[in-house]
Amino acid sequence: MTGKKRIVLLGATGSIGQSTLSVIRNARDDLELVGISGNSRFRELAEIAREFRVPHAALADENAYRDCREAGAFPGACRLRSGISGITELAVLPEADVVLVASSGTAALGPALAAIEAGKDIALANKEILVLAGKFVTAAARKHQVRLLPVDSEHSALFQCLEGRRTEDVSRLILTASGGAFIDREPDELARVIPADALRHPNWSMGPKVTIDSATMANKGLEMIEAHWLFSFDADRIDVVLHRQSIIHSMIELTDGSILAQLSPPCMTFAIHHALMYPRRVPGVAKGLDFSEVHRLDLAPLPPGRFPCLTLAREALHAGGVAPAVFNTANEVAVEAFLAHRFPFLHIPHVIDNTLEAFDNFEPRTVNDVLEVEKAARRTASELVQSQPWKKIS
Ligand code: NDP
Ligand code: MG
Repeated sequence: MTGKKRIVLLGATGSIGQSTLSVIRNARDDLELVGISGNSRFRELAEIAREFRVPHAALADENAYRDCREAGAFPGACRLRSGISGITELAVLPEADVVLVASSGTAALGPALAAIEAGKDIALANKEILVLAGKFVTAAARKHQVRLLPVDSEHSALFQCLEGRRTEDVSRLILTASGGAFIDREPDELARVIPADALRHPNWSMGPKVTIDSATMANKGLEMIEAHWLFSFDADRIDVVLHRQSIIHSMIELTDGSILAQLSPPCMTFAIHHALMYPRRVPGVAKGLDFSEVHRLDLAPLPPGRFPCLTLAREALHAGGVAPAVFNTANEVAVEAFLAHRFPFLHIPHVIDNTLEAFDNFEPRTVNDVLEVEKAARRTASELVQSQPWKKIS
């Protein structure tokens, strides 16, 4: 491709959004921001519109949109839209080349599918939409011949290791996991942890949902399902290994036993930069590994029985059908309750397990099927959260 790549950034005000802005700030000759979205933080979004002179923007939250209009927060040259329809309009902007999906949650599914149908390449940070509807997202990408470029650091690593390789030469994918905030806590201490404890991740600064998911290892479970859809490996050929330093972002094992890995400092800009610049390799924003310092690279098996959310995710992937969608929704509901101090950390896997139990699995035929399941799973999981005599923990 010649000229600048024109980017629509969904979730511009979030953690990945901010890292993406640093990448774009540093590559203004190559990348141009043509659309940005957020949910409700309109002042932050307006600031981004101003700095990057972005012509198109959208706020998902209608109330925030009204407040924003009243406050006259946006520069006049930026056309602001609202609601899911506004975000979908951004995703199909004729001038856009790539849509970076960095908004959180499954609300991104519709806009992402619309972008694919409009022939846009997708840089994908959001993993929830693949877990919910991976079958439909990947089928649409194949049909419309667009690229799904992974931004999640593990999948970016796998993508880079797999590139140019015959799939029959690869025996397994090995995802690395830092272990999250509680890897060194005694199991009985976990009964008393509060959101602030779980939000302190040792290596990464991320949004609240994905940070809690790292502490329960549900995140690695979601990533396993994400890897299945991105690279067509089944659950038996996707392993997880503990790697506390988050420098090896993931590995592949070849059939002759060799392992290939991708290494870089624990910073999302490498993966974002790779997805946006693909297939070019040009200097990025952050400094690479400095071997004038000593680096430890520990690799260890996960402590057995310690991460039930990961086991449940693996079972859901094995089961297929709508089980991964139910897993994702139940986890989302339980994490929301934990973040609101309404629910203890250790009960997150129980809600997932019980919600999965409550559903008869089936193969979804349409996106609507999974959206219906998501609604029903949300109801079931919410009832489970409320029905228990959970005590408020603070
Ligand atoms: P944040 O919570 O930091 O940001 C979320 C972004 O999405 C914000 O811009 C938010 O807007 C917007 N948003 C929230 N809800 C909606 C909605 N209903 N409709 C439209 N936009 C919405 O999340 P992260 O940046 O941490 O994560 C984003 C995605 O990337 C997630 O799917 C996560 O799993 C994935 N990911 C994140 C990593 C990380 O390092 N952070 C690593 C790998 C993957 P507002 O600010 O207005 O609320
Ligand atoms: Mg990740």
